[in-house]
Amino acid sequence: MEFRFTAEQEAFREEVRAFLKQELPEGWATLPGALAEDDYAFGQEFLRRLAPKRWIAPAWPEEFGGLGLGLWEQVIFNEEMAYQRAPLLNFAATGYLGPTIMMYGTDEQKAQHLPGITSNDVQWCQGYSESEAGSDLASLQMSAVEDGDEFVINGQKIWTSQANYADWMFMLARTDPDAPKHKGISYFLVDMKTPGITVRPLVNMAGQAGFNEIFLEDVRVPRSGLVGELNRGWYIATTTLDFERSSSSVYGQYRRSLEGLTAYAKETRWNGGSLLDEPKLRAKLADLWIELSILRYLSYRVVSMQAQKQVPNYEASIIKVFNSEYSQRLANAGLHILGLHGQLKGDSPHARLAGEFGRTYLTSVGATIAAGTSEILRSIIATRGLGLPRG
Ligand SMILES: Cc1cc2nc3c(=O)[nH]c(=O)nc-3n(C[C@H](O)[C@H](O)[C@H](O)COP(=O)(O)OP(=O)(O)OC[C@H]3O[C@@H](n4cnc5c(N)ncnc54)[C@H](O)[C@@H]3O)c2cc1C
Repeated sequence: MEFRFTAEQEAFREEVRAFLKQELPEGWATLPGALAEDDYAFGQEFLRRLAPKRWIAPAWPEEFGGLGLGLWEQVIFNEEMAYQRAPLLNFAATGYLGPTIMMYGTDEQKAQHLPGITSNDVQWCQGYSESEAGSDLASLQMSAVEDGDEFVINGQKIWTSQANYADWMFMLARTDPDAPKHKGISYFLVDMKTPGITVRPLVNMAGQAGFNEIFLEDVRVPRSGLVGELNRGWYIATTTLDFERSSSSVYGQYRRSLEGLTAYAKETRWNGGSLLDEPKLRAKLADLWIELSILRYLSYRVVSMQAQKQVPNYEASIIKVFNSEYSQRLANAGLHILGLHGQLKGDSPHARLAGEFGRTYLTSVGATIAAGTSEILRSIIATRGLGLPRG
């Protein structure tokens, strides 16, 4: 079966392409800068140019700063942005907090928070994990105690991506310590400028300060920061996770990487021919191209569910496992093909492909951990998808 987009959708794709060509520096996608996810200032500046076009979240309703485009247009947009390696910041807000607020937030919360996301004025981070609550998230210990019309929050979060830039955090805290663990959690929206919040960046092995520890000491959050019902936050949190796991933005990014790698193998002389003539290497690249198509169509399956107003669940876990493990296979193949040169950073004159694969080899390790480890997601697929008994 071959899927085709409509003529209008293809025209939209061309419009996005033309905009990116005009707004990104010449040859941007092949420059080391495009891979430097920590180039926050450039990313912000670029997004400020997207905002007036209502392209921060084009599929959101117009009243919240989107264009009300269909989900397939959003997919096209994501594919083009990722293919051109356009900066993608605040994805926790556009990708999963925003849709969660639209489902569970009050009218006041929608009016207060959604426009700031689509104007790119307010950056968000996701405060779920704690040092003893990652896979077993429901055992989290951050406490929120009601005090009049406020909650007083105490505890520590960890691995919070982009918290060092965030203005607000959506987070989980325990509001009933005596209830069964899934039933005593609430979902909060917290202003990061509130007194009592300390953010400490953590540097990963690729040298990026991508995630953080956050300490909360007697942080007072007004009742207006509570999303949904008290003690029912777990169910909201899992909806956010389903949105997170079904993200459809990676296909274009991997396609660009694989094209670069294939072109490199074709151009590199080896044994009187090119690297691409090596049967094993050729078969490896062919596998990666086939898997890339699988990844794309798995994402399209989830989008078609969302287009029918269904919230994907184990289907999102399938995508997350496949995406994240694919990113590791791709990075691994890249480093093998590029050899020792592949380990050099993009600013070295001897680096290959702007140092991309040395970098993704390190950063992709976290891909099978973030947003749920592969083991946890396989359990979800086994129990909810295949109906197997819990082990
Ligand atoms: C790049 C990155 C970005 C992140 N960003 C954020 C963020 O923005 N916000 C946030 O809240 N968190 C974030 N995290 C944290 C992430 O959600 C947790 O790391 C993840 O949920 C795993 O938790 P853990 O690290 O405590 O590992 P653990 O839960 O301690 O797991 C350790 C190992 O045991 C395995 N394991 C645990 N329980 C089971 C089980 N029941 N069955 C089988 N195997 C099991 C796991 O699969 C894993 O291999 C990020 C993590 C990474 C790597």
